[in-house]
Amino acid sequence: MVAVTVYRDSGVVLRVTKLGEADRIVTVLTRRTGRVRAVAKGVRRTKSRFGGRLEPFSHVDLQLYAGRNLDIVTQAESLDAFGSAIAADYPRYTAATAIVETVERLTSEEREPSLKLYLLLVSVLRALAGTDRDPSLLLDAFLVRSMSLAGWAPALQECARCGEPGPHTAFSIPAGGLLCSGCRSPGMARPAPGAIALMAALAAGDWPGAEAADGSMRREASGLVAALLQWHIERGLKSLPFVDRGSPAQPAELAGYPAARRAALTGPSADGTGFPS
Ligand SMILES: [Zn+2]
Repeated sequence: MVAVTVYRDSGVVLRVTKLGEADRIVTVLTRRTGRVRAVAKGVRRTKSRFGGRLEPFSHVDLQLYAGRNLDIVTQAESLDAFGSAIAADYPRYTAATAIVETVERLTSEEREPSLKLYLLLVSVLRALAGTDRDPSLLLDAFLVRSMSLAGWAPALQECARCGEPGPHTAFSIPAGGLLCSGCRSPGMARPAPGAIALMAALAAGDWPGAEAADGSMRREASGLVAALLQWHIERGLKSLPFVDRGSPAQPAELAGYPAARRAALTGPSADGTGFPS
């Protein structure tokens, strides 16, 4: 008797890679199982039984056969077709690409359930696909909140090092946020208070507060968010440089960074909003 394990789960397709002539490997963040990789047979044939349901950003209900190395997709039903709406708009596409890449980096272990990250991912893709909100602000909201889920919530009020209640003005990427007068070093960056307030609004899900920030605050906050995330993840997200952030701006904080890391960071675009709707 061979034990056959079939399971169902919903998930968001993070990445699709070719496997041979007709098959694909799909990387999916699932609701209950965490990140899994599975073979989808025949998806590259025109008459595939999966149709276009297994594309990046697709929200699907899957039936999977648990294989020894990779699972095998045996059924896929569409829950939300986020992919076509996102792919039709370049700023949304690049933001969504950075989001799914971040999710892959944050789920370094396969099959480690990450329900909160899954729910956050579905809601940001829904906002990207179905609202007029600024994709850059949606991306930053996702990045700030996913950092918090990973245990890297930036210190935006109390001192990152000693916990002294704020407000403080000096900001350190390696320390993870604001530093008090006793903990800071000379020459540390002092971001605009509006940029710190914007990051706090994004972290708290305060959309009216976030949307009130002007373009220069958004650019500065974006640079800080990206630098914090990259500090934690240690290597740059390949897709961040392609996100349309409007006019480029380099936060003073990044002045001492290696050129390769600095090059990955530019500011956000001006108009638009936040997520969810
Ligand atoms: Zn301190």
